[in-house]
This record gives sequence, structure tokens and C-alpha cells, in this order.
Amino acid sequence: MNFLCQNCGKMYEITSLNYTCSCGGLFDFQGTFIGEMKEMVSLGEPVTPIITKSFNNYPLKLKLDHLMPTGSFKDRGAKVLISALKKLGIEEVVEDSSGNAGAAIAAYCAAAGIDCQIYVPESASGSKLKQIQAYGAEVVKVPGDRDDTSRAVKKACKNNYYASHIYNPLFFEGTKTIAHEIYQQIGIPKTMVIPAGNGTLLLGVYKGFYELGNLPKIIAVQSERCAPLTQESDDTTVSASSNPTGDTIAKGIAAKNPPRKLEMLKAISDSRGQVLTVSEDEIKSSRQALWNKGIFVETTAAVAVAGAIKLFDATSSFESTGTLKTDMQDVLVPLTGTGLKEF
Ligand SMILES: [Zn+2]
Repeated sequence: MNFLCQNCGKMYEITSLNYTCSCGGLFDFQGTFIGEMKEMVSLGEPVTPIITKSFNNYPLKLKLDHLMPTGSFKDRGAKVLISALKKLGIEEVVEDSSGNAGAAIAAYCAAAGIDCQIYVPESASGSKLKQIQAYGAEVVKVPGDRDDTSRAVKKACKNNYYASHIYNPLFFEGTKTIAHEIYQQIGIPKTMVIPAGNGTLLLGVYKGFYELGNLPKIIAVQSERCAPLTQESDDTTVSASSNPTGDTIAKGIAAKNPPRKLEMLKAISDSRGQVLTVSEDEIKSSRQALWNKGIFVETTAAVAVAGAIKLFDATSSFESTGTLKTDMQDVLVPLTGTGLKEF
């Protein structure tokens, strides 16, 4: 069990303070350690239900991951990562997220008895930050913007273990459990529609189903205000009309330069999937549609429903006879987070 550089193949111990390879490459996890772990840190995670609801007369299967202990699917990643670190004797970690990932890491650290510092921009506020503090994590407020916070945590992790939901491959070992769970519940769906920011869910879904030997078609959905997956290159100088500021109401996926972008694109293409973008208005109306059915999710969760409706609306979803194509008769959307801490 090791971390393996995707770029040059160099191996690192899991307990290494390097969060990327000295060559700059990102890490993959190699080993079976997680499967063999007998004692996991637990907050009583449920098998989240799958229900079918109709949107614009299109049937959508919804996987209710907003019902996880801290209110988001990020608990899956935090559970496996923090359980592994506890077993390895790590006593203190740092992370940078004022959102669901920060809350999940803080909660599982509290359950594991691991000290936790969460770096956030000075301007961060709201229920998620209160939730992080409630779990007893030390919140370190960094002057400046998100990039300044990122620089500060990368400096801090020279001395402390970086429990990152983006860089640490153990987090993805956790998010992949959603695929295993779906398989147990309904088998492998034909199509999955997933909100995509840094790829924590998308890559987990890909890894999990890849291990099961068959992939659903993975449709990644981004706000048209922040859609790095639709850019041809890593060039960040994009036209003002397509990506002005990255400022979308879907805060959970407002990632302008996701470090694992190439991995995400490979996962989508391996699955014969595609990237869709949706407008702020489409996100809002899908959010309202979910709420009107009694499902109180956060805005980011509505992005995938908006994408699924767009996918159904495309004429390519139908046979010439007017019936839905097979791929579109079995569409699953994970609902990523609760609305209780956003509004
Ligand atoms: Zn390397």
C-alpha cells in the first residue's frame, strides 16, 4: 500500500508529507489496505436510498447522499481517509475547505480523536463554517482569496499531514464506495449524471465502477459560468462570455482549475460520456423542482438534475419512434448535499 506518482511512477509512503510527487505529478493509491481494514471510524453511515422521481415527465433515479451524517457525500471520502490515517498513527491534519469537505473531515477527525486545522479564506462564513467549528476543528482564517488559502495550507502541510479531498487518493478510495453501494442496490446504471468541480464524486464513481468491470455512461455537468472541463487546454485565459469569473450559485463545483482535470476528462471519455453545461436559471429551476417534491438539497445538487433534463431534452435521447433510448431509460443522479446548511 503506497501512493504512486501518475507521472513518473515513483512510490511514496501513505504517511509521507508530500501531497504530490517531487516531479509535480499527482498520486494514485496502490494497494488493498482499505478493504482489509477491520476498524473503521464510523458515524453510523446509512446505505443511502435510491428513489425515482419524474422531472418534466422524465424518470430520474435519485441517490440520496445528502442523507449522510454531515449532510453530504463527502463523508464517504472522509471516513476512509481518516480511518486510514488513524490506523497509521497520524495525530494531526490540515485541510482547506470551508464547505462540505471541510465539515466531513472535521467530523471524522472528531470521531477519530485526530486534531484538525481547517484553512479557509478570511471572508468565509455561514452554516458550514459553524459546523466545522462545532466539531472542534481549529479554523485558520487566511487573508485574501481562495488561492491565498491554498498557498497557506500548502505551506502548513510541510509540517502537518494534508488530509486533502483533492490531492489525497485515499479520499477517492472513499468516494468510490457510492459505486459499490449503487451496484448492490440496482446494479450498474446505464447513465450517471454528476455535478463536477474538483472531481471528488466523478472520479470516485469512475474508480468504483471500473473495479466492478463495467462503467455507466458518465455525464459531467458544470455551470456555464465555471466550466473548465469544456476548455480545450489548460490555458486559463478564457473569453469573458464563456467563463467570466467562476462565480456561480453552485458553490460546491466552483473550481476554475481542478488539479485532476485530465483524470476527469479521461474518466468521461472512457465511459463514452460527455460534459454538459447549464445556466444559473436552469440550476435554480431544477433546485425548485427538487424542493417542490419535498427534497431539500443544496444548489450544487440541482446542477446534475438540470443536466439530466437537458440530456433528456436532446433529440438524440429518443429513437425515431419517439421512445427513449436504452441509455436514457436508466439514469441515476446522486444528490450531493443537504439544503439545511445553505439557506
Ligand atoms: Zn513523479
